[in-house]
Amino acid sequence: MIRIAQPLIGDEEEQAVLAALRSGRLAQGPRVAEFEEAFAEHFGARHAVAVSSGTAALVIALQAHGIGDGDEVLVPAFTFAASANAVLLAGARPVLADVREDDYTIDLTGDIARAEAAVTPRTRAIVPVHLFGHPCDMTALRGFAEARDLLIVEDACQAIGASWRGATIGSRGTACFSFYATKSMTTGEGGMVVTDDGRVAEQARILRNQGEETRYVTSLLSGNFRMTEIAAALGLAQLRKLDRWNERRRANAAWLSERLAGVVTPQERPDARHVYQQYTVRVPGGARNALRDSLRSQGIEAIPYYERCLHHQPLYQKLGIGGSFPVAERAAQEVLSLPIHPALAQSDLEAIAAAVNGARALSGASRG
Ligand SMILES: *Cc1c(COP(=O)(O)O)cnc(C)c1O
Repeated sequence: MIRIAQPLIGDEEEQAVLAALRSGRLAQGPRVAEFEEAFAEHFGARHAVAVSSGTAALVIALQAHGIGDGDEVLVPAFTFAASANAVLLAGARPVLADVREDDYTIDLTGDIARAEAAVTPRTRAIVPVHLFGHPCDMTALRGFAEARDLLIVEDACQAIGASWRGATIGSRGTACFSFYATKSMTTGEGGMVVTDDGRVAEQARILRNQGEETRYVTSLLSGNFRMTEIAAALGLAQLRKLDRWNERRRANAAWLSERLAGVVTPQERPDARHVYQQYTVRVPGGARNALRDSLRSQGIEAIPYYERCLHHQPLYQKLGIGGSFPVAERAAQEVLSLPIHPALAQSDLEAIAAAVNGARALSGASRG
């Protein structure tokens, strides 16, 4: 099976984890601090706060910005549930918005009247999601946010190393990353809040640890969202390889995009550096599931991320969080992510291209 994702664990990771295990300290300690420093430096961020997951990073970042009870937060309708679940967990209410046709990121400037209608006096923030590794148009989003006095907390869980107009995601404002096993680099489970705001970083450090302002003095309601030394040791080793891996992903994507027919290959906007956390094609004409099944029968794991928009999720329907988001809805029916990870061999890429181009599901669908 050519898997959709594969953690790459080498001697460096094994040695680093063994050293952590033998150090006598397993929970948050010097390796976590070292990982935070290295991560901040790598992304040109002022502060980095390591936590137990990407979801925890989002909840903590929102709360560190003072977002909670009674607040509304704009979130794209087409994303992983965690992007909006984090808003709910922080005590606020997600308000959904449609996404762009070309890169699936939140669209607040395409139809200004529509975006305006989503903003109420309670709106405090936007959670843009750099979906599949393609950065949002941060220029447009910052313009929209500044004009309306909204905060931005970026969901960069899929965009480790992406950039917009030459600025690495995470180098400005507040962004949240995930190191889950399928992400571009992994600590098993883990996450990071990066921010250029010292006060937000300080709050995040308090929030990851029972809301303790000083040792055993709890001033805020929170829980335990700390990272382990074992995870940090893994993260340090993985971070050193990240740039090489991202280059590999980009090269794999370029190779496939030159060859695939019958599907719409992913776009990289001129100002964007896409890191292809997922290589997501569009299959028009209702042939998506047939193509998925055909690829699977040939040993290629292809997954529709995401088959269900947030407003079609039972939780969000129960909470009355809905609307009509035609671009997101069409995307949910047509997208299919193909393996793109750096461990793919040339023969794997060739097998993927041959399987897509030979798929009977696509004959009759428009080629291009
Ligand atoms: C993975 C992911 C998350 C959550 O990260 P976890 O580490 O799994 O908690 C949030 N948002 C997006 C877009 C993700 O891909």
